[in-house]
Amino acid sequence: MKIKALYNKFKLCSGISTDTRKISPNSMFFALKGDNFDGNTFVTKAFENGAKYCVVDDEKAVLNAQCLLVSDTLKALQEMAALHRNSIGIPIIALTGSNGKTTTKELIQGVLSTTYKVKSTIGNLNNHIGVPLTLLNFDKTLDFGIVEMGANHQKEIEFLSNIAQPDFGLITNFGKAHLEGFGGTEGVIKGKSELYDYIKSNNKTIFINTDDKEQVKQVKGYTKVLTFGSNPNNDFNIEFISANPYVKVKFNNTVITSQLIGDYNFGNIAIAIAIGQFFKISEANIKRAIESYQPTNNRSQVLKIGSNRIILDAYNANPTSMLAALKNFKQLESEHKYLFLGDMFELGEFALKEHQAIVNFVQENFQENIFIIGEHFYQTLSPNSIKKFRRFEDLCDYLKHHKIINASVFIKGSRGMALERLLQII
Ligand code: ATP
Ligand code: MG
Repeated sequence: MKIKALYNKFKLCSGISTDTRKISPNSMFFALKGDNFDGNTFVTKAFENGAKYCVVDDEKAVLNAQCLLVSDTLKALQEMAALHRNSIGIPIIALTGSNGKTTTKELIQGVLSTTYKVKSTIGNLNNHIGVPLTLLNFDKTLDFGIVEMGANHQKEIEFLSNIAQPDFGLITNFGKAHLEGFGGTEGVIKGKSELYDYIKSNNKTIFINTDDKEQVKQVKGYTKVLTFGSNPNNDFNIEFISANPYVKVKFNNTVITSQLIGDYNFGNIAIAIAIGQFFKISEANIKRAIESYQPTNNRSQVLKIGSNRIILDAYNANPTSMLAALKNFKQLESEHKYLFLGDMFELGEFALKEHQAIVNFVQENFQENIFIIGEHFYQTLSPNSIKKFRRFEDLCDYLKHHKIINASVFIKGSRGMALERLLQII
């Protein structure tokens, strides 16, 4: 079936489903393939659970006239998303970066929705499947769509940009994330900047934080750029006041005290303020939206458990976000500090060097109660004062006999380490 014809069928549906356990009634089910499953084998289940059509790419899965055969379901999903994006024509803001995409997306969503009708990426659906699903969830009645784009290799952001066709683009930061797939830091800058390349070729608008010199370099010579940050010559001047522990900022005469910790969140907040000002949201609404935003999902959360204050940053980790969060924890006033650091994944050949750099940093900047967990950290050279555990279970055994009280506890590691499990133990 041709994409246009498929799209006409989509218009008769309530939306898209890709998981038969979560089918919304009258939706269009896309039979995608994963490493361990083939959606084509779930067609009967999809109809039982309420799908209106099933898009399949295996002839054997065509059970009735409601089954729509295409040559490649994933490709069809992506092409249909691009067609839909064109057809609805709403302004789209796209963001990528190594860290802070979801936080920033949620801040922008909060600010814009005080005044406009806005939808954005749900959760973290930011890849070659998530971005099409995000777009297909948008409609003509929206004032804005916000799309988070993630990537771990070259040409991925270019590909997603061609589908989402953003009118506004921004990059939260260039950091040491997914070094393996991108091939080092230069590779990250090149890969993330594919968003700016798209924007430039299509004469659209870029928002940049001029405090980040690498970003300034990337947009040199391009004129449709809106600047923000702490320099008064910017289009939007946003001043960092403190992060003690919550980030406090000022713009015009408005002071905002956020519920976000870590000075690295200044840039994320600044983006939301700049976009809010550009789209003429009142200062009071910008303030209200940012002050009411609370991070969830183990992302830089502050929790009070018993007599301890926990900085739970177990959502993910890479060398840049680890260092930024450690520097922030160092500033925090507290008599007793504990650090639990889990392995950072997807660093490939850079893994040992980057883990060693973190160990060296904590050794120089913290006195005691440093715990490092995981295979990579285990390989590092460290003094005896740093407690090393190859496996999470070994750490649990140790903690059974060592109680932590009246302390500030910092927890961060890659998603796969799931260090939030420590909350059950501390
Ligand atoms: P993902 O790649 O998983 O989609 P993301 O880019 O969406 O991640 P967030 O979920 O917003 O990032 O934040 C994850 C963690 O990254 C935070 O808990 C915090 O530790 C760190 N972080 C957020 N913003 C920044 C930043 N600007 N610079 C460095 N670290 C940051
Ligand atoms: Mg994200």
